[in-house]
Amino acid sequence: MPTDVLIVGAGVAGLSAALELSRAGLHIEILEARDRIGGRIFTKQDPTLNHPVELGAEFIHGLPPEIWGPVQQHKLKVTEVEGDMWCSIDDRLQKCDFFAQADKILEAMDNDYDDANRGRSRDESFLDFLARRFPGKDHEEAKQWATGYVSGFNAADPGLVSVRWLVDSRRADEQIEGDRAFHIAGGYQKLLDVFLKELKERRVPIHVNTLVNAIKWNFGSVEIAATGSHATSFSASRALITLPLGVLQAQPQPVGFEPHLPAEKKAALKKLAMGKVVRVTLCFRERFWQDLRGRCDSATPRNLSFLFSRDNFFPTWWTQMPEPVPIITGWAPAKSAEGLAGMTKDAITDKAIQSLSQLLHVDKSRVLAQVVASYSHDWDSDPFSRGAYSYVKVGGEGCQQVLGSPIANTLFFAGEATDTSGHNGTVHGAIASGKRAAQDILKLQ
Ligand SMILES: Cc1cc2nc3c(=O)[nH]c(=O)nc-3n(C[C@H](O)[C@H](O)[C@H](O)COP(=O)(O)OP(=O)(O)OC[C@H]3O[C@@H](n4cnc5c(N)ncnc54)[C@H](O)[C@@H]3O)c2cc1C
Repeated sequence: MPTDVLIVGAGVAGLSAALELSRAGLHIEILEARDRIGGRIFTKQDPTLNHPVELGAEFIHGLPPEIWGPVQQHKLKVTEVEGDMWCSIDDRLQKCDFFAQADKILEAMDNDYDDANRGRSRDESFLDFLARRFPGKDHEEAKQWATGYVSGFNAADPGLVSVRWLVDSRRADEQIEGDRAFHIAGGYQKLLDVFLKELKERRVPIHVNTLVNAIKWNFGSVEIAATGSHATSFSASRALITLPLGVLQAQPQPVGFEPHLPAEKKAALKKLAMGKVVRVTLCFRERFWQDLRGRCDSATPRNLSFLFSRDNFFPTWWTQMPEPVPIITGWAPAKSAEGLAGMTKDAITDKAIQSLSQLLHVDKSRVLAQVVASYSHDWDSDPFSRGAYSYVKVGGEGCQQVLGSPIANTLFFAGEATDTSGHNGTVHGAIASGKRAAQDILKLQ
């Protein structure tokens, strides 16, 4: 039976597109470079704590139907993140409302670019917005937290990121209660298992260890050359490309297109950026932080959920609250990730332990003695992601749509960076993009 659609990439964008297309009766094959499916979803199991540890995506942000649909249908257990937010300010640990601080600035940004003002407000970077709207030393504290939010949550360089895009993403988040966060019990792997089970039932071949090098196409026909443990050449009438933005941008190109991608797609690639993140998860013998006292605050971080600081390397940390497991994750986004570039895994873990011990005012040796395992993944130097997740640069409005638009009804594009609903950079945005591309293909049948 000839293949109707070849899908490049077995992340959630590719998998969800494969589901839609195979449900409609099309013959699909999936080509994946890694030895596993899931792409930037990568769940490991810590054997000592018998608990999942995420190396990539961890949270469900809000109530997106793309995730809650399968979660509810397959009765996956989900826990809402709870607990107290703490900040380390001037070397002092205290409970804080990080978002209220950052919102003083972010709400002004939302207002400048709301429907009434949008036409008049030209796009600018977040740093330019701060300089224009909050010049001088006033609001210094709030400005720093807001900048931390932009680089922490969006993994974006505040000097490059488009304010229009930031406002659109915040609006999109509001619509799905994006300020709430959830963990899937057993980790994001459980969602992959749901997708995989149905794809197996539908007999969709997934070729792992299959590195796509070249995509040659003509109207209504595609030839894909790949190296790896499976056949080296595949053909179909159409292909759906779900390669991460970082892979599409890389020079020299890891995947060649013949004919080349059109000029407008190349221009769009330049206006989008791949955010950088290094994350380190530390598994401990016990939740040693729960009885610590902040320097000047009488409370203890017993219910610590998030810890924010201005640490150069790991400014954000979180626990697994409300689950009382001794696991804590450090998050080095944007410039912090750049500062860790080129370091070995051990050196990065050491930096993380150093940061944590400083923030909690606990001797590094005491923290080290508690560690049973550490997990990290450098998404930036991973050749199959080349970054963590995408954002839009100043003047890049419309570029996600250009990147995601089909070529000659033969090549189709999906993946988180092509999402146009304000949810790029997320698991649900990636799923939505896969479904959108599948619908585009089905309209032609
Ligand atoms: C550290 C980190 C934390 C995150 N946290 C969250 C979170 O908490 N919540 C959230 O919603 N989102 C989060 N995200 C974002 C989320 O993981 C991504 O948006 C989403 O998983 C992207 O899915 P995708 O299918 O578009 O891309 P991918 O998952 O990257 O899939 C693309 C696939 O293409 C494959 N590929 C690459 N090159 C080739 C080639 N040459 N040949 C064949 N195959 C190839 C890759 O191996 C990959 O499997 C996080 C991401 C990272 C990195």
